[in-house]
Amino acid sequence: MPELPEVECVARALRQALIGRRLDRLDVRFAGVLRPSAAAVRAAAVGRTLVAVHRRGKYLILTFAAGARRQMASVAREGAGRDETHVMVHLRMTGQLFCDPQFRPDAHTHLALDFEGARVWYRDIRKFGRFTVVEDARTPRALAHVGQDMLEIGFAAWRERVASRRAPIKAVLLDQGVAAGIGNIYADETLFGARVHPLTPAAALDGAALRRIYGQARAVLRLAIRHGGTTYLNFLDFRGRPGNFRRKLRVYQREGEPCPRCATPIERRVVAGRSTRLCPRCQPQPPA
Ligand SMILES: [Zn+2]
Repeated sequence: MPELPEVECVARALRQALIGRRLDRLDVRFAGVLRPSAAAVRAAAVGRTLVAVHRRGKYLILTFAAGARRQMASVAREGAGRDETHVMVHLRMTGQLFCDPQFRPDAHTHLALDFEGARVWYRDIRKFGRFTVVEDARTPRALAHVGQDMLEIGFAAWRERVASRRAPIKAVLLDQGVAAGIGNIYADETLFGARVHPLTPAAALDGAALRRIYGQARAVLRLAIRHGGTTYLNFLDFRGRPGNFRRKLRVYQREGEPCPRCATPIERRVVAGRSTRLCPRCQPQPPA
């Protein structure tokens, strides 16, 4: 499942490949991924130029403007374009957005987006992903339940949202309403890096531990972005290599292997309903 780093990699690829290009055609093979309707998404995007790609947590927001091309694009990015429309993309479990001239659409391919000079495919085995017309790129109502992005929120604001919670810190990290973007992989890596047991109630953590968790979360996410993410396909090649951050993972899916710090075998247990890996020595269980 794509998490923040994978979605950020898609955002960067989209910006690089498509900003300033007009979407000439939207070929819809399965309209169920379009909200509120295929017609609404077409009206918001087709015949218009992509001028910005914004990311919040695991959500992408594509901003389109009327009129032409590259000159227009720079104007609109500076906020001058009043005639902007926005389509939010949420890849959910298995959504894949990519550009690959070799690709031939299969039964899981639901959209073809024909930009000037580039065809982008949307493929989604589970069909949970969505393209939704929204009214604003920064604070759409559809994201009212989603917190600030984990890479944008400041420590004081994050701490305020975390420190009073009695839930296990892992559950709080996964709560997208607290801060957006951390999923199961990066939560485990964060808590290992911070030497905090995932079951520790957030409210029981002192300032130093909270500071370590906040710092580790951002460091792990940034490192994963630099390595192209962990689980997700390359935007430029459907058959391409997954991001190579998997090799850098220290605990995720490494149960039974020696802890990279102390050589104690990594354990797996269920926390907040999610499979969780930890080092029982580096991350001691909190007193009951
Ligand atoms: Zn250890």
